[in-house]
Formats: sequence, structure tokens, C-alpha cells
Amino acid sequence: MTEEKQKVVIIGGGAAGLTAAYYLQKEVSERHLPIEIQLIEASHRLGGKMQTVVRDGFTIERGPDSFLARKTSMIRLAKEVGMDQQLVHNSTGKSYVLVNEKLYSMPGGSIMGIPTEVGPFITTNLFSIPGKIRAAADFILPRSESGKDQSLGGFFRRRLGDEVVENLIEPLLSGIYAGDIDQMSLMSTFPQFYEVEQKYRSLIIGMKKTKPSKPSKSAEPIVKDKTKGAFLTFKTGLQSFAAAIEAKLDSQMILKGHKVEKITKVNHKYEIYLNNGELIEADSIIAATPHKATQAMFSDYHFFDPFKQVPSTSVATVALAFPKEALKNDIDGTGFVVSRRSDYSITACTWTHKKWVHSTPAGKVLLRCYVGRAGDETIVDLSDDQISKIVLDDLKKTMDITVNPDFTVISRWKNAMPQYTVGHKQRLATILDQMKVELPGVFLAGASYGGVGVPDCIDQGEAAVRNVLTYLNYSNE
Ligand SMILES: Cc1cc2nc3c(=O)[nH]c(=O)nc-3n(C[C@H](O)[C@H](O)[C@H](O)COP(=O)(O)OP(=O)(O)OC[C@H]3O[C@@H](n4cnc5c(N)ncnc54)[C@H](O)[C@@H]3O)c2cc1C
Repeated sequence: MTEEKQKVVIIGGGAAGLTAAYYLQKEVSERHLPIEIQLIEASHRLGGKMQTVVRDGFTIERGPDSFLARKTSMIRLAKEVGMDQQLVHNSTGKSYVLVNEKLYSMPGGSIMGIPTEVGPFITTNLFSIPGKIRAAADFILPRSESGKDQSLGGFFRRRLGDEVVENLIEPLLSGIYAGDIDQMSLMSTFPQFYEVEQKYRSLIIGMKKTKPSKPSKSAEPIVKDKTKGAFLTFKTGLQSFAAAIEAKLDSQMILKGHKVEKITKVNHKYEIYLNNGELIEADSIIAATPHKATQAMFSDYHFFDPFKQVPSTSVATVALAFPKEALKNDIDGTGFVVSRRSDYSITACTWTHKKWVHSTPAGKVLLRCYVGRAGDETIVDLSDDQISKIVLDDLKKTMDITVNPDFTVISRWKNAMPQYTVGHKQRLATILDQMKVELPGVFLAGASYGGVGVPDCIDQGEAAVRNVLTYLNYSNE
């Protein structure tokens, strides 16, 4: 007699959902567990935001382009799916910040904009003398109130003053989240800065003391070569990583082009309604979907309603391919971020041909720019021609570009960057507590919840698998 199988449904085939599907399948197969897995993805492809265009010898990332090498879960998964040979470090070089139409090189020794060496901070022209004196107040200012969340902007403005924040910290940090640092939660984005402040009182002294003197042993492959940076990517693009995970999955478990519309709990099971009217039953669910999609699927459960208020910003990436001769004054460096104090529409630009040499054929140049950020998103809705013109006009202000690009790849990401606003952790904890009571066996994973980086989504996919196995009484811990 065959044992009746329990069914686990994973919704969403981005980094979090793919990871969950891979590790759950691995557990089921190695331990011969009576579990059937189904992965449901609304679009016709897996990978979510990991999307790559390969064209004319260029490898162009539409969404994420790399990940932090010290976040090892991604390297581990790459090994699992046979992609570790494709991993490549970024090349290092000077990076800049653009303030009031002028490029300044990043002051040496600054970590996320926080000075840890006095010399470069004193000599940089990026800040005025009063701005530098204000930043030095960090040495004497008291700690924040213990344990309370606050905005990232509020925290840094108090410690280092407005000028250091606006000329350096804001462009760097909002580059990661495309967010408004005066709304973003310190505790959910960079709790380590709060911890440093609690321990050392001065952020500058604390960051100097905690600055890693040599690469950590866990950060494999070890960065010995100074020309190799702290980031990794796949030579064949991040989409090829998603494809490698998909290739390891039993194709029967994958349902693409099916959107989950509604989920309700009926006795001890879940009924999952798809957009084609089909109904699927599950014993346990991993919702690896953005928070607004999750709220819509569980609209009968009003404790998800706070997700409706959590903003997601829209951005677009604009990749421009040129012949090498097009750039007359090719600046020595790998890219720049743009301060809000500049009259520019682009928020950042990477000289991708230098940072990721593999991405560009010899004799060519690849620039990748960002447009759109919290409070400044309308540009994303313009036509391709309008966006291309705006970006090119901005670039011409800093670089002597004489010709039009050979081609441009514009990727719009509407409402794609979840914003961890102040109170995020508490809001999420309240929802998770309610889920345990009203929706036992349903787990969340992905960028809207416990970290936006691809490796964070991988960690959450793995954690969701452990939660499912514990819920179904198959925990091996
Ligand atoms: C432009 C850009 C640049 C970025 N750069 C970096 C970077 O360099 N490094 C980095 O680490 N991170 C970066 N990120 C962040 C990172 O890419 C994302 O946070 C991460 O890929 C999100 O993975 P996820 O699995 O949570 O969600 P997603 O990739 O969004 O996947 C969710 C999936 O769920 C599906 N779905 C939604 N609703 C339903 C439904 N009702 N039914 C079924 N399926 C549904 C969607 O179609 C989608 O495929 C960037 C993001 C963007 C937008």
C-alpha cells in the first residue's frame, strides 16, 4: 500500500521560491519523505527579478547584477547546482559620488559612508569645513535610546550631520533600497550600525574598531587579490543561476503561467485558487511572493492588511552599449552614485565594462544606470526613447560621449523594491504571530520580509523549508 503524501505548495519562483523548491526536493529525495511538492509561478519563466540579456557578446543584467561574497548561502547553492565554476569577482577601482554636478572620489576608509580614517576625511573636498566639524560631533554625542527603531536618516543625521548624510551616506544607502532614508528602518536595514553605536557610542570609533582587518575565513573564495572586489556574480548571468536551479527540479512539480488568486483554510488543509479556476489543495505553503501579492492571496485574513501600506518603489535600469572610442575621457573608476543635491535624473552609474570585465566584448563599453527612487519615480513610466535621452544627457554632463549607443536595454521594475520603513520588524512579527494561530503551516520568504539581497532571499527560502519540515513533523534537527 502506498503511503498518502502530504502536499507542500511553494508560490513564487524567484530566488526565495526556487531555493525553497530545491532544498525541499533534496530533503524529500534523500530522506524518502512522503511529500509532494508543487511550485506555482505566475509568469512564464522562473527566476523572478534575476533576468539577463545576452546580446552581441554582452551579458547585461536587467535586475540584480551581483551579490556580496561574504553572504555564503548563495555560493553554497551555486555549488549544489554546479554553477560555482561560473562565479567571478568584480574588479575593484575608484568609485565616485556626484554632488552639485561634480564627481568626487569616495573618501578612503569610509564604510557605507561612515569615515573610519581621519586623513582622507579631512582632505576630501566632498564636505565643507563646517560639515566636517559637525561630523566630528559623533565623538562626543550620546547613544540612541536603547532598542527603539528609528529612521536611517534620523540616526545618521544626528550622529554625523546633514552634509555627510546628503553628500555621501544617502546616495550610497538609497542606492541599495531605492528608498527614502528618512523613512527607512535602521533596525531592519542596518542594525549593525545601531549595535556599534550602543557598544562604542561613537560610530566613527566603533566602525574603525570593528573594521575587518583581513577577509573572514568563511568568505570563500577568499579575496586575496586586491584587484578583486567583495562582490560575486555569474559569468553567464544571474538568470543562468536560476536556470541551473530549475534544471535540478523535477519538471513535474513546476507550474508556470498560473497566478494564485486566493487561499483559504478549510479544516486542516489549504485551498489554493488559481486564475484559471483550478483548485489545488495543500497541507503546507511557502508564500515566496512580494508582500502586496501575499496580502491579495490571503485577503480573507485581515491581519495581512498592514502590508497594503508598505510601499515598494519603482526603478528602471538602463544599460547602454558603446564602441570604446565613444568615450573620449574614460574616467579611471568603476562607477558613481548621485547625491540628491545634483540636478540629475540618474541615481547611479556603473562602468560595467570595468567592474565586470567578462560582461563586455573587447573594444566595447557598457554603462549601466539607474533611474527612479522614493519620491522620484515618474521617470520609470516614460517611453524608452524619453528615458534613453534623459540618461544620455545626464551622462554627457560627466563624460565626453560623442555618439549614440549601439543599443540600449531598458528594464522597468514597477513597485519592485520593498521599503522597510520604521517599525518593519515589529509589523512583520505581529503578522507572523497571527499566522501561527490562524494559518499554521503557511510560511513567508522573500525580499519583502527578511532582507532584500538575493542571498537574503536564499536564506529565507532555506529557513522556510526547515519550518515546513518541522510543521509536518519531519524535522531532522
Ligand atoms: C533593479 C534591481 C536591482 C537589484 N540589484 C541587486 C543586486 O545587485 N544584488 C542583490 O543581492 N539584490 C539586488 N536586488 C534585489 C533582489 O534582486 C531581489 O530582492 C530578489 O531577487 C527578490 O527575490 P524574491 O524571490 O523575494 O522575489 P521575486 O524575484 O520578485 O520573485 C517573486 C515571484 O513571485 C511571482 N508571483 C507574484 N505573485 C504571484 C502569484 N499571485 N502567484 C504566483 N506567483 C506569483 C512573481 O512572478 C515572481 O516570479 C535588485 C532588485 C532590483 C529590482
